[in-house]
Parts: sequence; C-alpha cells; structure tokens
Amino acid sequence: MNEAGFIGDDGWYSSARRLPSPNFEVRPGSIEPTLIVVHNISLPPDDFGGSAITELFQNRLDHDAHPYYDQLRGMRVSSHFVIRRDGVVEQYVSCNERAWHAGLSSFFGRERCNDFSVGIELEGSDTSPFEDAQYASLDDVVRATMRRYPIDAFAGHSDIAPGRKTDPGPHFEWSRLQHGCELPLQYFPYLANARTA
Ligand SMILES: [Zn+2]
Repeated sequence: MNEAGFIGDDGWYSSARRLPSPNFEVRPGSIEPTLIVVHNISLPPDDFGGSAITELFQNRLDHDAHPYYDQLRGMRVSSHFVIRRDGVVEQYVSCNERAWHAGLSSFFGRERCNDFSVGIELEGSDTSPFEDAQYASLDDVVRATMRRYPIDAFAGHSDIAPGRKTDPGPHFEWSRLQHGCELPLQYFPYLANARTA
C-alpha cells in the first residue's frame, strides 16, 4: 500500500513509483486537465503482475513474447498512472503533460480527450473484480489530482470511445469511487445520464 501523497508543481505524484515513459507531449495551449479517465489494462489480458504494461509504456515490449503482443507492434501509448493489484501506484507521465491513453475519443462532443484528461489504468480486465487495495489507492490518486487540477468530471474509457473500448468494464464500481472521494453525482455525467435515461 502507498501513503496518500500529493502532486507537485512538476505534475508527479509523491507516492508513486516513477517509471517515465517517452510517450507524451505538451498539452496544447498548456491547458489544465479537467477530466479523469478510468481504464483497465492487463498484458496479456487477464494475466496480472507481470512487467509487460511497463514495457509497453516504455516502448520496450518484446512483441514475440506472447501472441497477443503482435497486435501492439508500433503502438506508442502511455497513461499517467497504473494502479497495480496490490495498490501500488506507478506513474509514467507527469500530469502536466499529455499522455496517450484515450486515443480517438469524445467527451460530450469535445474530442481529443488526451488533451484535457488524466488517465488512470487499473491493472485488471473486463472479467474480474478489482481489488480493495486498488480502490483505496484510486481514492488517494484522485484526491491528490483534484487538489492540484480543476477536475470536474470522470469518465470510463468506454464512455468516451464507445464501440471501440470496453474498459474499465462491468466490474468497475463507480459508486465506490464516488463515495470514496465524497463526490456528488454531477462529477460522473455518464452515470448520471444512465440513471435518468
Ligand atoms: Zn483504456
């Protein structure tokens, strides 16, 4: 488990393991992030605990090591954070910078979500529940991010890239995040829309 920390002027979280990725760029217009995008990732899918996520984000994955990795050839991706199954938080890109986690995406018509979001990957999959330690660390990361940046909304990757992405998947409990961080429902516009639909 991590100590709850803070995000410094440099955009790095004090309680994270720093594993810098070269896959980032300046946020256009130096805008501040206002959206948090929640994802899940595991490589290969449903296989937890290995080093492949780190290798992918650092462009050093051995694409011949598993058949699934073949389709990842040439991909340049990253996320600000990865939260491991035991709650350990890893950071790959400063939150001041634009990480490459969302891809082709739209938040209620506002495209290029990477421009204005912070990406948090939970090590997991669409087929298994997340760990209590991950929800606890997620709360810490979210609280630290919200103290630093004017975050006013949360979305799942599947919300902003429907039809293309399914993560964080049916096992991610949005209500745990909402209540853990004591946030009103308006921070979760997709959830709010689903309730009133
Ligand atoms: Zn995703």
